[in-house]
Amino acid sequence: MAYQSLRDSDAQIENFNRANTVNLPRQTHLSAVLRLAQIGSIMGSGGLIVMDETSCMVDVARFFMEFCMDESCGKCIPCRAGTVQMHDILRRITTGEANEDDLEMLKTLSDLLRETSLCGLGQTAPNPVISTLKYFPQEYEAHIHEKRCPAGHCHMTAAGQEVAS
Ligand code: SF4
Repeated sequence: MAYQSLRDSDAQIENFNRANTVNLPRQTHLSAVLRLAQIGSIMGSGGLIVMDETSCMVDVARFFMEFCMDESCGKCIPCRAGTVQMHDILRRITTGEANEDDLEMLKTLSDLLRETSLCGLGQTAPNPVISTLKYFPQEYEAHIHEKRCPAGHCHMTAAGQEVAS
């Protein structure tokens, strides 16, 4: 995995864009973090989560979808039903139950929620799915086709083909 500091130059931001990974040294000034907006990222309420190779990107997407599912007010159907559907697909991927059709449905629902939800919660709920599908497609493929979690995090109990530690 390639790491790149945001501290020095715009050229480095370009590199960050390509790698989608970042290493922030301990003395990194907050202004460098704020430049994340330049590469299309958001800080939410100010939180920054740091993960390494032991984090499963599919399960990370599932975790954030669970949060959005719980927080949905239920006013509009795309968000109310879509977050539940997406969470169920992500859960089944992490347990080895999903197939290629589920992956396509995940992409379709991502577009649907982003384009038709009434407010920012539903519109941004698919973001972790979209970005992990874009930058870590091999993790989704390993779960679906090999019934294997590259991070060793997911328990593929449903498929009965692998139980990760
Ligand atoms: S998108 Fe907004 S309005 Fe619609 S259900 Fe979700 S939280 Fe409620």
